Amino acid sequence: MKLYPLFADLSGRAVLVIGGGAVAERKAATLIEVKAQVTVNAPELTPQLRRWVEQGLIAHRPDAFRETWLDRVWLVVAATSDRETNRLVASLAELRRIFVNVVDDAELSSFHVPAVVDRAPLTIAISSGGAAPMLARLVRERLESLLDPSLGALTTLAARLRTRIRARLPEMAARRRFYEQLFAGPVAALLRQARPQEARRAAERALLAEAKGTQGSVVLVGAGPGDPGLLTLRAVRAMNEADVILHDRLVSAEVLALARRDAERIEVGKQAGNHHYTQDAIHDLLLQHVRAGRRVVRLKGGDPFVFGRGGEELQFLRQHSIAYEVVPGITAALACAAYAGVPLTHRDHAQAVRLLTAQCQRSHDALDWHALAQERQTLAVYMGVSELAAFSARLLAHGRAASTPFALIENGSRAEQRVVTGTLANMPQRASAHNVRSPALLILGEVAALAESLAWFGQPPLGEPRAEPHADG
Ligand code: SAH
Repeated sequence: MKLYPLFADLSGRAVLVIGGGAVAERKAATLIEVKAQVTVNAPELTPQLRRWVEQGLIAHRPDAFRETWLDRVWLVVAATSDRETNRLVASLAELRRIFVNVVDDAELSSFHVPAVVDRAPLTIAISSGGAAPMLARLVRERLESLLDPSLGALTTLAARLRTRIRARLPEMAARRRFYEQLFAGPVAALLRQARPQEARRAAERALLAEAKGTQGSVVLVGAGPGDPGLLTLRAVRAMNEADVILHDRLVSAEVLALARRDAERIEVGKQAGNHHYTQDAIHDLLLQHVRAGRRVVRLKGGDPFVFGRGGEELQFLRQHSIAYEVVPGITAALACAAYAGVPLTHRDHAQAVRLLTAQCQRSHDALDWHALAQERQTLAVYMGVSELAAFSARLLAHGRAASTPFALIENGSRAEQRVVTGTLANMPQRASAHNVRSPALLILGEVAALAESLAWFGQPPLGEPRAEPHADG
């Protein structure tokens, strides 16, 4: 069935709803919202419907349905559980050329009620023509998550400025460009940040400045550890609106696949020892794209503020008066712990967790080893695998027990995830025995022993073979 999509203005217009149950109540609710003059025909009403009658929001006719009522209404909704009644109403409405919706009966209906994404005054209606309402609902959910709630406010703002926009930008192409920038640029960002007054001022300024060309914006986004399911909704939205994505090597292909198809993707990864881009070169690149008026997403593995140098990039942007937003991501320590079944602060074993980096000798020298060697705390160490030997030697030298358990998580949250466990005494040997590679995160502390019993994702942890009890031991 192919349907003609239509948005109807029902305000002040009479609509008859037949039935007084939960379904009728739902239909009445949306009709009240659009200020239709609703009459509900049913002997009994739900408590909510009764309340609406008392509040004067709807009228009630408890008597038996009468054909003549149809003469004064624009629409009829048949929401009774009695198929015969529904059928009768449908055929009488048809005779009078009044549109009728029979709930859950596509065949008897001459109009359907779509699944709706409400960003009033912007409304998105989705219909499968009765073929697969569940699918329509799933599409609706998908759109719900893609479209920020502030879209409604943005639409209202656009409506307010509409005449001025028309006057100032008589050319269609210029208007389109302006709207595009309005929907994806700093004005939308301010609305997302719940700063409506500033948004309005920014929109007015942008309108004045339109002739002089535009400046882009930057969103610093945490891409999480790899599993795209761990992205935030806001991260997905930003990636959907991006013109350019500058991403690190750590960002997974699955995550990048969610970005806008025609967004330009540039890898600016810095591999230890093999620096593709210096930090300065990344700054230059940011500047260049923003000046060209692009919406830039700076996409970083994990969280941008956890060993991600996100701070430096923001300082640079601030120096150059470039607008930015930050979207947090799930950092490797949290993701690896979750996906390896290591509760970082299990109350029986740890009262603190420290996130630290031990990527190189210089970072080792900066650490407070005495503090790190204390018991009953968990260390989550962002590190290169080659640093493991030096790291464990220093900890042992400062007195952390050789029996302290560890879990080393390689490719945390990704399909290839591996977890190697053991104790501080044999950590470097265990890592090289299993040829652990970057990216890998070390969790060291009493809690790491729980991986063995709580692991749930991917292959079980690669633990040490249990020592056979010796007869003479
Ligand atoms: N900003 C990132 C960290 C960047 S530093 C975050 O918040 O996660 C890079 C280090 O993070 C890697 O050397 C590794 O120790 C760790 N790491 C990042 N992703 C990882 C993953 N999927 N599995 C294991 N370790 C990871």
